[in-house]
Order: sequence, then C-alpha cells, then structure tokens
Amino acid sequence: LNYKKSILITGGAGFIGSHVVRLFVEKYPNYSIFNLDALTYAGNLENLKDIEGSPNYNFIKGDINDASFISALFQKHRFDGVIHLAAESHVDRSIKDPLAFVRTNILGTVNLLNAAKEIWKDDFKNKLFYHVSTDEVYGTLGETGLFTETTAYDPNSPYSASKASSDHFVRAYGETYELPYVITNCSNNYGQNQFPEKLIPLFINNIINNKALPVYGDGNYTRDWLYVKDHAKAIDLVFHKGKTKETYNIGGFNEWKNIDLVKELCAQMDERLGRSPGTSEKLITYVKDRPGHDLRYAIDASKINKELGWKPSVTFEEGLNITIDWYLDNEAWLDHVTSGAYREYYGKQYKR
Ligand code: NAD
Repeated sequence: LNYKKSILITGGAGFIGSHVVRLFVEKYPNYSIFNLDALTYAGNLENLKDIEGSPNYNFIKGDINDASFISALFQKHRFDGVIHLAAESHVDRSIKDPLAFVRTNILGTVNLLNAAKEIWKDDFKNKLFYHVSTDEVYGTLGETGLFTETTAYDPNSPYSASKASSDHFVRAYGETYELPYVITNCSNNYGQNQFPEKLIPLFINNIINNKALPVYGDGNYTRDWLYVKDHAKAIDLVFHKGKTKETYNIGGFNEWKNIDLVKELCAQMDERLGRSPGTSEKLITYVKDRPGHDLRYAIDASKINKELGWKPSVTFEEGLNITIDWYLDNEAWLDHVTSGAYREYYGKQYKR
C-alpha cells in the first residue's frame, strides 16, 4: 500500500497517546501510524485492542532513551511527522525519582529531536515535530489570571521542570536547526484508560472499593479539566492546521477546586452505585500536602479557539458521566492495572 504519510506517535500505549493513536488510525486510513512505546507501568496495549489488526497501524516496543535505536528507527521509516507524547507523567513519582524524569522527558526528547533533524535536514518541507506538553510548565497562579502562550515558564515540580526543559529543547531545535515544530500545553485530562494513580480514576476505583479518598492539603487546589478525546481532537487539528514554530494552549474552560470535584464525583458515584447520598463523601481523607504544590492552574485557550476553531465538544458533566460509565463497565481493565507493582507503589505513596 502506498501511504500518504508515515507518522510516529510516541507513548501511544499510555492514556492520552492511546486516544491519539486510535483517532489517527481510524480517521486517516491513508496514513501509516507507528506507535512507539516502552510499555512502562503506564503503557498498556489493552488500551488499543480494538485497532490492533488495522492495516495502517504498527506497534513498536522501544525506549526513547536509547539513542542508537531511535536513530536507526528514523533511518528505517523516515517518518513525515512525529507526535511526541512518551513521558514520565506523574508528579508524585517525579518527587521520589527526578532522574527518571530527566532521562525520559529531557534526554528522550532530545534523542527524538536529533533523529528527526538528521533524517529531515535536507528537506524540512511538510515535516513536523509535534511536542505534547503541559500547562504545569507555567508554575502556579493566584486566585485570578490565566496562563497564555506568552506566560513565563516557572515550573515547580521535577515533572514540570523536565517538561519545561523539553519544551525549550524543541523550540531551540526550531531556532538553531530550522526543525519545524509545534508545541501544545494542555491542562489536566480525564477520561477512559487513565491509569488509576491520577485523581479521577483513582477516586472512582477507591469509591468502588470503599477505600479512603486522599485529598491533598485543604483541597483548595484548583485545576482545569479537559476530556481526553477533546485533547486528541485538538492534537489532530494542530498537527494539520497549526502554524509551525508556534505554541498553543489547550484547556477545558472548566476550573474546579479539588474538593468540589471530589464531592461532585462522590455524588455521581453514589447515584450510580445505588448508595444513599453522602456515602462516598465519608471516604474523603485529608493527607499531608504535596511539596511544591501549585495552587491554581487555569488556561486561556482562546488562541487555538480563534485561530483553529477548536473548543471542547462535551461539557464536564457529560465527560465525567462517560468516564464513570467506562470505569464501571471495565473493571477487568482496572483489576489488571491495579495489581502488582502499582499496588506496592500506591501503598507507599499515601501513608498518612
Ligand atoms: P501516561 O503516563 O499515561 O503515558 C505515557 C506513555 O509513555 C506510556 O505508555 C509509557 O509506557 C510511555 N513511555 C514512558 N517512558 C517511555 C520511554 N522512555 N520510551 C518510550 N515510551 C515511554 O501519560 P499521559 O497522561 O497519557 O500523558 C502523555 C503526554 O501528555 C505526556 O507527555 C504528558 O506530559 C502530557 N500531558 C498530560 C496531561 C494529563 O493530564 N495526563 C496533560 C497535559 C499534557
């Protein structure tokens, strides 16, 4: 088959990556999609079972930290585009093991940049290195204000510092070597297939199992939440229509204080599980604050809205409903990922 484009998606077995891979495989049968993933604790091929046999889909198990492997992979496939999502993504883990984040998020990204630059250097036309990043690079906001694309970087956790650094490298490769790139910085995602160390699936799982709901500090931390499939659609749009050498913020126009979000989730779960109102809220337990915890993140997503016409397609209530349904219908998925190594980590993590 003669494919129009070959695209490398890194971290495609993870939470957001799996939604991006599925969207591209299904929407673009004339693209050959390569999903490169090391299958760390966060990578799960079960997330992509439904598209496994698609003729335009290829899975490659491999580590972006292995420079010679990455360079050989680019030599072999000469990708037209890269959508880079592979990362260590959990802030709490970054506090315990910052070097793992330096390795994958910084060195791994630079390995990909080097390989792309080498393979594309004689003809950058119609090539694109798309780097997927987070709003956490901007640090924290007070009660008011929004992060825009020109907000100064001010990361506070080893995770956000590693993502900030990778963003800088991508931009520097654009300036220094003319590598065509685009970067998006997105707020907190939620939805199907999210590893249950992150707030929403962790709490759904704990409510199902009548386990404590650990809320950091006083619960007043504020985050913007976006349904993962809306993030995937934004990535598709920016990949095809975004201006190179630009950054776009992506957000849900949907700010929640953690404690209010948890209470909303508890109320919805009580209803679903046929428990009397207030049952799940009793599981809320305040735990010692995360060090360097950012008070508030909020995104101004007006640039992507005005320039590319993107906006979230579902409300938070709709997205949360779909997400809860999915976790309730997929307890086997939850059981698989919550066994073994993950449980051990979780036990250590939330000691009170
Ligand atoms: P995730 O942890 O669910 O998935 C990460 C994937 O990367 C996993 O499949 C893992 O196996 C793979 N991976 C890790 N190290 C690798 C390596 N060395 N080589 C190859 N593959 C490796 O993460 P996610 O939540 O889906 O986030 C994906 C990307 O989006 C990350 O870059 C993250 O910084 C960014 N992001 C996430 C959010 C969010 O709310 N989850 C928000 C904004 C941006």
